[in-house]
Amino acid sequence: MTVNAPPPAGGLPTSRYDLDRDALADLLADQPAYRLDQLWQGLYRDLAEPEEMTTLPASLRRDLAEHLPAALVEDTRSVGDRGRTVKWLWRLADGTLIETVLMHYRNRSTVCVSTQAGCAMACGFCATGQMGFDRHLTAGEIVEQVVRAQVEAGDRRVSNVVFMGMGEPLANYDRTWAAVERIHDGLGLSARHLTISTVGLVPGIRRLATESLPVNLAVSLHAADDDLRDELVPVNRRWPLAELAEACREHVTATGRRLSFEWALIDGTNDRPEDARRLAAYARPLGAHVNLIPLNPTPGWPTVGTPPDRVRAFADELRSHGSNATIRRTRGTEIDAACGQLRADRTDIRVAVPIRRQPAN
Ligand code: SAH
Repeated sequence: MTVNAPPPAGGLPTSRYDLDRDALADLLADQPAYRLDQLWQGLYRDLAEPEEMTTLPASLRRDLAEHLPAALVEDTRSVGDRGRTVKWLWRLADGTLIETVLMHYRNRSTVCVSTQAGCAMACGFCATGQMGFDRHLTAGEIVEQVVRAQVEAGDRRVSNVVFMGMGEPLANYDRTWAAVERIHDGLGLSARHLTISTVGLVPGIRRLATESLPVNLAVSLHAADDDLRDELVPVNRRWPLAELAEACREHVTATGRRLSFEWALIDGTNDRPEDARRLAAYARPLGAHVNLIPLNPTPGWPTVGTPPDRVRAFADELRSHGSNATIRRTRGTEIDAACGQLRADRTDIRVAVPIRRQPAN
């Protein structure tokens, strides 16, 4: 009984979830045809390790375990929000570190996956942006994060995937999209429950609009005038707000999905009434929903989040200008698992203690 070792994915390490059915069939070339279905079900229905796939003969299981290792090795697992948020620090085959966050809600569980180790977009208020770019993740490394989260969740179904972890999904388009297809076709999640978040890479958004699976699009807006957005989200210098709006419109028209804008409220920076008015004017024609998140603390950014009373005032101002807005409750702050806090750095691992807001000065 032999198993052919899978080829590396463009020089990157290979996850067992990088292999499509044809590649898995090649691996099982000298096996009876039905073994492929058994392996596929083991990987995608049972989320099993090769050793656990008892429908397969023991010697084949051993071979597969050797040739299809897990890409993600747990380095550290942190638990916050009284068990409702879990963050992993994974070590990949080449030593690269990435993070994944699983969040349990009353009626659903959502996993937030990374698409790159680090990020090249350089948003100053984001811990991943502060660390710089390390490398792209393979499709399999992205899919495996969902698989591991579902294994952890047990009886609770991980029904939603948000591509909001480390990295810029649309800067790693092909592998991210291959992961979307595998999560949809293989793991059986609905496209309506998959959300890709971007800093606003216009060519990527246009391309998304042409895909056959209508996934949700979230755009990290944070400013609705070019001067401020140039500063907060440097990629705005390349694709300013007017172009971004056009691409968003194409996506909305093509997919029929509701667009959302993310807005991290930064004290005294983008939380004034005129910011709300500009945001409403930008979001309304696109029918976009606004998610407001008070800025989470990160080591390399001095400004704090907007205090709760002014967050509510900002949301009211938006609504009074006809824009839909939700204030997002922050998850995982005490384990550095909240939006913008992922940095995959072993040196900052510490006992979970609640972070108190610094007083604004
Ligand atoms: N690169 C993609 C995917 C990351 S999603 C993107 O930017 O959309 C992570 C989200 O958290 C983004 O909306 C990002 O702007 C936001 N974010 C980054 N730093 C943050 C912080 N310190 N507090 C709150 N949100 C933050």
